Amino acid sequence: MSDWNIDQAEELYGVNRWGAGYFSIGDNGNIQIRPNHRLPDLAIDMQEVVEEIKSEGIELPAVIRFHDILRSQVEIINETFAQQIQDADYNGKYCGVFPIKVNQMREVVEEIMDAGEPYNYGLEAGSKPELMAVMAYNENPDALTILNGYKDKDYLTLALLGRQLRRKMIIVIEKYSELEMLIPLAKELGVEPMIGLRSKMMVKSAGKWAGSSGDRAKFGLSIAEILNVVERLRQEDMLHCAKLLHFHIGSQLSDIRKIKEAVSEGARLYAKLIQEGVPLEYLDIGGGLGIDYDGTSTTSDSSRNYSTEEYVADVVWGVKQVCDLEKVPHPNLVSESGRAMTAHHSCVVTNIVGEIKPASTNFDVSPSEDEHILVKNMRELHQSGEQFHPQERYNDAAGYKQNAYEAFKLGILSLQEMAKLDTMYWQILADIHQSLDKDAYVIQELEELEDMLASQYLCNFSIFQSAADTWAIGQVLPIVPISRLNEKPEVRCSIADITCDSDGKLGKYIEGTEISDNIPMHSLRKGEDYHVGLFLTGAYQDVMGDMHNLFGRLTEVHVYCHDDERGDFYIEEVVPGTSAEKVLQTMQYNTEYMAKAVKKQIDRQVRNGGLAPRAGVRWTNFYEKCLAGSTYLSVE
Ligand SMILES: *Cc1c(COP(=O)(O)O)cnc(C)c1O
Repeated sequence: MSDWNIDQAEELYGVNRWGAGYFSIGDNGNIQIRPNHRLPDLAIDMQEVVEEIKSEGIELPAVIRFHDILRSQVEIINETFAQQIQDADYNGKYCGVFPIKVNQMREVVEEIMDAGEPYNYGLEAGSKPELMAVMAYNENPDALTILNGYKDKDYLTLALLGRQLRRKMIIVIEKYSELEMLIPLAKELGVEPMIGLRSKMMVKSAGKWAGSSGDRAKFGLSIAEILNVVERLRQEDMLHCAKLLHFHIGSQLSDIRKIKEAVSEGARLYAKLIQEGVPLEYLDIGGGLGIDYDGTSTTSDSSRNYSTEEYVADVVWGVKQVCDLEKVPHPNLVSESGRAMTAHHSCVVTNIVGEIKPASTNFDVSPSEDEHILVKNMRELHQSGEQFHPQERYNDAAGYKQNAYEAFKLGILSLQEMAKLDTMYWQILADIHQSLDKDAYVIQELEELEDMLASQYLCNFSIFQSAADTWAIGQVLPIVPISRLNEKPEVRCSIADITCDSDGKLGKYIEGTEISDNIPMHSLRKGEDYHVGLFLTGAYQDVMGDMHNLFGRLTEVHVYCHDDERGDFYIEEVVPGTSAEKVLQTMQYNTEYMAKAVKKQIDRQVRNGGLAPRAGVRWTNFYEKCLAGSTYLSVE
């Protein structure tokens, strides 16, 4: 083990690079969390958290939420804006909002509201049910509630109710027709709305969400439409209701240049509208603040080439510059960062329940009499050792294997012979791979050996539930063993989930500063759990998952840091995962009926004498216990 240390583990898994100061590798080889940016010395050992979870009888997989990280992120964005506003002599305030679609979990929203209270941090909703949630959870009369998304009459009426309750609810007009609905409604109810205008931006965004801007964007008003809205409001004597200009050019903006461009376009539009007599008070720059998921600090889709400070500075100074040139007052600045607020705070911890080797190399291959010539050939190649060039051995082995396959289909090779030949084939590939000089130039085909020989580690979770974006859009998420990082990881593997779907695997891994098809992990030890963490799942992944194969929501563990507690943390709450019963009910199954139906069949066997009465009771209870239990694999 002396040929490996935690610096090499850091080099390989890049924990500091994507960890944003929250995650690192401890001297003992365990993942460490520093969840509170104000207490940089307070470090929690992830392995200890897992031990405590298990000692409370909670089964993995589980989502672990570090609420202090949420709070830290809220404080950091607010304080960074405040600092830049002060440095720039900027005359407006920062009035951020959290878009709850990124993570609508009540506990998350509550924690964010609580941490954001001193800054009057608000919420954003993009649908009717989200609006209903934010109405109940944002009671701060000084915090904004921004209402985006398409709206019907009920949506607008709820927003007007919010105005009656003295909330700063801003209805952002996405389409002209929403204004036509709103005006008579507001007049009828005698409520003065606060109105925002969403601009369809001209800047060409980049990345997975590029479609959020440009002419074909689904949302927003063109400049001509904005002028029509302004005209209409003027006619209705409601122009004073227009308070905010909004834009959002996409999520996970990886290139700071696009952000600068959008800010300058948005600020210019704001200034020109002020000059037209529209009394706007807020400029809302939407979301898009990225996360460096792969730790490369580049413009790759899973990264970003800027820091939060740079982002904030570019917004504040960019808006100031345009406003000063146009001689208009500085607007209050609103941002709707969701991903950046929540991504770090939660992770999925689970266990590896098995290893799928590419092929068995564990079969007796000793020669037998009358062995087929194809088997003999493979054996000779097997024994030839390194006297041939690796490429030549590889070509021969592949050729023999192909011939053997043809012969097997024709019934020429026996099962025994095919098994021997196949076993030797894989042993030869492993030999070749061992003998390759890693740094020397190798031929493409031989490079693929690494992939062919990689194991699959079977991971007790569902990608479709817990990491939807890795499947849907090729998002990279860090996956790292949470202990043994002071040992050399000897097994190259990819991570497969427990769904019956061949897409149910992680396709991309961080390996140093590269993205690989597989990743080194430690060899599994008999009788010892191997825990891995899938990190940065707090934004979107937590809430977007589906129930493919009826794997429901995971158990959640809420961890708070506390320096008086043993291990500097305590588990504040455990939210049990969805039981098999609950998941089945969402698909319209009547689980009471199911239990009765199975019991009836058991009873019939008991009556027929096929089962002893006591055994019948045990089987009935077992079925009911499974209904009430977890959907994931139980590891005893
Ligand atoms: C999705 C969305 C956001 C959140 O974007 P992030 O990139 O997660 O910060 C903000 N505003 C609007 C209008 C959105 O649709």
